[in-house]
Amino acid sequence: MENKTVYLNGQYLPLNEAKISVMDRGFLFGDGIYEVIPAYRGKLFRFQEHMERLENSLNNIRLINPYSREQWLEILTALLSSSGDQYIYLQVTRGVAPKRDHAFPEKTEPTVFAMCSNIVPFEGRDSGVKAMSLDDSRWELCHVKATTLLANILLRQQAVEQGCAEAVLVKEGYVTEGAASNIFAVIDGVLITPPKSSEILPGITRDVILEIAKENHIPYSEEVISLEALKTASEIWLTSSTREIIPVVEFDDQKVSGGKPGPVWQNMNRLFQAYKQSQS
Ligand code: PMP
Repeated sequence: MENKTVYLNGQYLPLNEAKISVMDRGFLFGDGIYEVIPAYRGKLFRFQEHMERLENSLNNIRLINPYSREQWLEILTALLSSSGDQYIYLQVTRGVAPKRDHAFPEKTEPTVFAMCSNIVPFEGRDSGVKAMSLDDSRWELCHVKATTLLANILLRQQAVEQGCAEAVLVKEGYVTEGAASNIFAVIDGVLITPPKSSEILPGITRDVILEIAKENHIPYSEEVISLEALKTASEIWLTSSTREIIPVVEFDDQKVSGGKPGPVWQNMNRLFQAYKQSQS
């Protein structure tokens, strides 16, 4: 394991010296939230948007943000190096309580952890990946970026064991998102993604794509997509901060866009890369 410098509760220290108590509620209950923020050439991408989502997640689990945005910026920027594509993982838990009890403890200091890793270009980004539909077995607060990811983990693992890169989650016949990504489909020439709700994580990459579509007059719409409709899509994409825009070329054992990334993806990926460059 690389012994990089990480941030823990006000200190920068080597990863192998960063330790938390086994009584931390993050460890015992998954009682915490997290963020993943990409950084290009030493500059955090869409920092304010990630901070807004962080604040929403904290509010939802009734934790007070331990730092101001300026403090976060300073803490996180110190972990970055000035070259290459990297990402920050940060997590805030409800902290260490004297006893294991589901209800909140009277008073705890949140535990704050952050580390930086290199973004390894995702193998299937240019060639496309296989994906499969699975029942969305998660809870009702999917807009909260909670560290409790057991359902997502089990779903992704099930997909991986079937040779797929991602599980496309389906609730009552409608597609919500991927196990760790948002979903887009091109249907009848229109780029469609499900609207924001408590059933999906409001992806930062998702918003960037919608902005790019708007600026470039690419027809798009935020509306529900049935699994049936998804199967008729000429293109399917999965989006996230670390994987960017991944074309799906096989879905539920059927080829999508002739088994190769489609023209709308080619165009959007080019525009997205240009946007990234312009922001770093
Ligand atoms: N949905 C889920 C469930 C996720 O875990 C993620 C991030 N990995 C996303 C969507 C995409 O969000 P973002 O574009 O902000 O990375």
